[in-house]
Amino acid sequence: MNHIYNFSAGPAVLPKAVLEQARDELVDWHGSGMSVMEMSHRGKEFMGIAAQMEADLRELMGIPANYKVLFLQGGASSQFAMVPMNLLRGKAGMDYLNTGEWSKKAIKEAKRYGSVNVVASSEDKNFNYAPAQDAWKLDPNAAFVHYTPNETIGGVEIFWTPKTGNVPLVADMSSTILSRPIDVSQFGLIYAGAQKNIGPAGLTIVIVRDDLIGQTVAGTPTMFDYKTHVDNDSMYNTPPTYAMYIAGLVFQLLKREGGLAEMEKRNIAKADLLYGYLDATDFYASPVARDNRSRMNIPFTLKDAALDEAFLKGAKEHGLLQLKGHRSVGGMRASIYNAMPIEGVAALVNYMKAFEQKNG
Ligand code: PLP
Repeated sequence: MNHIYNFSAGPAVLPKAVLEQARDELVDWHGSGMSVMEMSHRGKEFMGIAAQMEADLRELMGIPANYKVLFLQGGASSQFAMVPMNLLRGKAGMDYLNTGEWSKKAIKEAKRYGSVNVVASSEDKNFNYAPAQDAWKLDPNAAFVHYTPNETIGGVEIFWTPKTGNVPLVADMSSTILSRPIDVSQFGLIYAGAQKNIGPAGLTIVIVRDDLIGQTVAGTPTMFDYKTHVDNDSMYNTPPTYAMYIAGLVFQLLKREGGLAEMEKRNIAKADLLYGYLDATDFYASPVARDNRSRMNIPFTLKDAALDEAFLKGAKEHGLLQLKGHRSVGGMRASIYNAMPIEGVAALVNYMKAFEQKNG
């Protein structure tokens, strides 16, 4: 049996060490006689887990004191609505960058709450690049500027931080968070579904500057108001306790392994290995503009799409799982989040080479 490497875009592979620790602690957490799943979220055991987890995330990302960190449910998709509900603050319009499928979903939802100005779009080239900042038409009176630094489906990543002056910058970091250091102080709000680099699905993290909280649009449900969760330390209702616990184990592991600077180094090495091969052959191709090639999600095509099925079948036989591209774009996609070791990328490249030799 080959070693199994899982290239899923999400829910994605978790570090083996974390799964093993969770297994060991599953039934009786630290002699408490309870599984974390069975603990009251208001009990001292779980309150301790939650506090440690938040402290570790703050340390890893260097989150300034004037930012609140919220642990919510509802997925990043709920944030597509919660962001405008909370951040519109009486203004008429919002700025959005459109770089692909996730941007489009965020834009569609925001339009329910006010007018959306699309500052720039890469739809003209099938979303295979990100427009440079000098092409953005920013509205100085916008309530905020929203962008998607990593489009999980298209594999388009923006490695620079947009400059938006006094207008708060909002980022859907679902598939890039924790993959490299970022300067949180440049953002008004960051959100992410957990199921890529953080932990299991069910947890959504929101990092929000405190002056932006508490000015929701009329009719905002209690659960959709960030202030509700700020005032109750994310315990207004039952938070996703087990997912938070696993995320906490991931944060501790990342700290032990050298933090986000080390993750970035590893992620660059992994991405270079795969892109290097894609560039060295004409049997496979990367559709994404060089400056925007994602380090997390790497779509690629075979010269002859008729071979796609045989490629996927052979990959599976070699223990290389979930390489099929998103249904909206076809081809292949290798998602290589933090938990994918470089050995997994090397195994993929070796398989790709062998497949090319046989079919090229
Ligand atoms: N935004 C991005 C960039 C994503 O990759 C995803 C999903 O994978 C989402 C939003 C939606 O997240 P969720 O499924 O947590 O709602």
